[in-house]
Amino acid sequence: MAKQAITTREKDYSQWYLDIVKEADLSDYSPVRGCMVIKPTGYAIWEMIQQGLDKRIKDTGHVNAYFPLFIPVSFMTKEAQHVEGFAPEVAVVTHHRLESDGKGGLVPAAPLEEPLVVRPTSEAIIGDSFSRWVQSWRDLPLLINQWANVVRWELRTRPFLRTAEFLWQEGHTAHATHDEAEEETLKILHEVYSDFVENVMAIPVFKGLKTDKEKFAGALRTYAIEAMMQDGKALQAGTSHNLGQNFAKAFEIKFQGQNQNEIEYAWTTSWGVSTRLVGALIMAHSDDDGLVLPPRLAPTQAVIVPIYKTDDEKAATLAAAEQLKAAIGDKARVKIDARDNVTPGFKFNEWEVKGIPVRIEIGPRDVANQTVVLGRRDRPGKEGKRFVSWAELPETLPQLLEEIQAALYERAKAFRDSHVVDVANYTELAAAVETGFARAWWAGSREDEDKIQTELKATIRCIPLDQPGGEGVCVLTGQPATQQVLFARSY
Ligand code: AMP
Repeated sequence: MAKQAITTREKDYSQWYLDIVKEADLSDYSPVRGCMVIKPTGYAIWEMIQQGLDKRIKDTGHVNAYFPLFIPVSFMTKEAQHVEGFAPEVAVVTHHRLESDGKGGLVPAAPLEEPLVVRPTSEAIIGDSFSRWVQSWRDLPLLINQWANVVRWELRTRPFLRTAEFLWQEGHTAHATHDEAEEETLKILHEVYSDFVENVMAIPVFKGLKTDKEKFAGALRTYAIEAMMQDGKALQAGTSHNLGQNFAKAFEIKFQGQNQNEIEYAWTTSWGVSTRLVGALIMAHSDDDGLVLPPRLAPTQAVIVPIYKTDDEKAATLAAAEQLKAAIGDKARVKIDARDNVTPGFKFNEWEVKGIPVRIEIGPRDVANQTVVLGRRDRPGKEGKRFVSWAELPETLPQLLEEIQAALYERAKAFRDSHVVDVANYTELAAAVETGFARAWWAGSREDEDKIQTELKATIRCIPLDQPGGEGVCVLTGQPATQQVLFARSY
């Protein structure tokens, strides 16, 4: 049975993660290092993430478009910091034909006049389009999103969390003023990213500003949502960048202002979340028995498993299952597991490993009593079990799903809050990042951040937007500090 194949979190958290990915059938091996095959079960979760985000992106006024995968190398060099940040990890296409090597193999032939970068992110290629689309103040704001794959040649990779090719959405917007760009950057952080991750994925996040050391290459300011995984490490779950006029100047995104005379550079933003969110989901909620899906995100929220021995019982339980599924209608996403080549026990195990929030059992005795047995994935065993009549099920099931959703969020939040330690000195900081996040007053320099990273393998995850106010003493330098930061080891 699949369950035994999962290493416990206590024994080896990293291996546990890989086991969940495998046993829940989320992804498969790729012949190219760092890439992955996303299997249907994993892709269905990504589609739910896409749907939820796409709705929020559109509700905040953005439209979808698509830009090319290939970027001329010369475009990448236009913004100095951007190229410096991404050059070490770009894949480059240099040829456009394969020819026989005369020994049964193939070699690249026909070099391109200008090599092409496979997009690691699309500021450069979209900046080029924007320079033509933006002419007057009337063209602003320009609010575009793209769903795409990108490639960053990462050396340390792990399925979903960090891959060489990943799927994401990237928003790109242009505005008339700095303040409008800043407002957009924060709107995405609050109304799109943290709203989705907290309310649909049931993962609590810290919202904050990145330090200059950690910000996006070429950005004025980067905001991020940071989540805590069950081993106390941080995961950057989404980023929103105020790019200032850096890219507008590099790509000539200019507009005629309202007073007609002046030509001004636009203010741009970009923001993205990726298939990493699937990794966040696994690491935030799952247990030693497999994946745990929050109901609002689960592609299938409940599975009905008919239990029978005779043909008559089979007919009766399946008919009841169909009847109940129809009665539930669109109140919940329900599937009937009618396979007759595996036992109910096998099915229970499979849906448990795959994290389906609710299991609905229906046997001959339940048919006679017009009841079903509901089992909760987040509370395995007797504790989560309850009997419900057929008449009540269409009302009870959606309520139970919401109850589970809330319970998962509360559980993740309680875990997180109990793993954030307020630290006053270096010794406490060093101890706190062993098991979770350290919250500290900070007035250090970039070099100080480097020192802590080298010594403790922890970085400043963000300067939380939510600050206590007042003044404190810097955890490293002892100088007066006006802001608190969160330190953690991260994925
Ligand atoms: P960035 O463009 O660097 O701000 O990243 C945008 C989003 O993609 C962030 O939410 C990152 O967490 C995520 N991301 C960055 N690199 C990877 C990667 N190698 N694999 C998966 N997701 C990534």
